[in-house]
Amino acid sequence: MYPRPKALFFALSRSATLTRFASQHGPGTPDSLAGRFVAGETVEAAIDMSRRLQSQGRLVTLDHLDKRVTTLDESTAATTEYIRLIDVIMRAGIERNISLKLTQLGLDVDRATCLDNLRRILEPAARQGFFIRINMEHSPYIEQTIDIFETLWHYEYRNVGVALQSYLHRTEADLRRMNELGARVRLVKGAYKEPSSAALRHKDDRDRAFVRQAHLLLDSGTYPAIATHDPNIIEQVRTYADARGLAKDRWEFQMLYGIRHDLQASLVSAGYRVRVYVPFGSGWFPYFMRRMGERPLNVGLALKPRAYARGSINVRA
Ligand SMILES: Cc1cc2nc3c(=O)[nH]c(=O)nc-3n(C[C@H](O)[C@H](O)[C@H](O)COP(=O)(O)OP(=O)(O)OC[C@H]3O[C@@H](n4cnc5c(N)ncnc54)[C@H](O)[C@@H]3O)c2cc1C
Repeated sequence: MYPRPKALFFALSRSATLTRFASQHGPGTPDSLAGRFVAGETVEAAIDMSRRLQSQGRLVTLDHLDKRVTTLDESTAATTEYIRLIDVIMRAGIERNISLKLTQLGLDVDRATCLDNLRRILEPAARQGFFIRINMEHSPYIEQTIDIFETLWHYEYRNVGVALQSYLHRTEADLRRMNELGARVRLVKGAYKEPSSAALRHKDDRDRAFVRQAHLLLDSGTYPAIATHDPNIIEQVRTYADARGLAKDRWEFQMLYGIRHDLQASLVSAGYRVRVYVPFGSGWFPYFMRRMGERPLNVGLALKPRAYARGSINVRA
């Protein structure tokens, strides 16, 4: 069975009433809890935060959270926004790294258009030295996401990588496929409500799968990204990489904006690369609800926003 808080918050993230309520309490409003997880609604807010993080020795990747795309016109508009984002990031002089979802580029509407939209982003991105990471969504999208990624890989696009979710039964095979290609993988535990036919049920099994797959990536992957805030797993990964004499610039840790700032800082001080995922945009609500579902304690923080605003809760980047 899927952990209950995740299922609840997943359902709430689709509520139109809550989305309307949330629009009045967005990341830019005073005492907003959403502001703990989302850099802001504008690209300027994300750039300011990225500069701050980079000045603290961290790397960044920006993700534009927009409303759900349901038509071809909307997918074209979202693609144009990403192409504009490439330009804005270049002018701002921050790191050239973007994360995106294929449903934003029209995967729900038409696969061929989605592939073409991604290609339209990869072209200017490649010219300007950007790396584009494809986030992974629920299991019904995975086959198509990997398929689109592999198609573009065969067309010689190399400035692109995927995220894989260690909780899925299929992931170890996908990961070996990516290692054989020489593609860059971001390994995550997985954030969605999945049936037990698709994903491991128990936390211990999920954690063991993550460590096993992280080892596979460190052994034979290409510049892997180990994306977790789990201190036990991070310790195991460090020990494994150090024991193998893997240079610290051959792989990186990744964490989400607003989560375990302290751990990010201590890893940076120890010489590890840490990339912070900086989400921004008006479509922040489903992302925010996934973060709430991962850690029900966050709901308590929502009820005590001033404690958070005073900085007594030491998590903010
Ligand atoms: C850079 C990055 C990119 C990601 N991309 C994807 C993706 O493409 N697809 C996908 O399905 N998932 C993605 N995720 C989310 C991921 O799947 C997990 O849901 C998320 O990282 C929480 O799992 P964890 O590994 O931190 O471990 P957990 O066992 O969930 O948490 C370990 C510890 O981290 C801290 N923590 C974790 N989550 C929170 C939170 N919400 N609030 C406060 N503290 C928290 C707590 O201290 C907790 O004890 C991404 C995560 C990261 C870091």
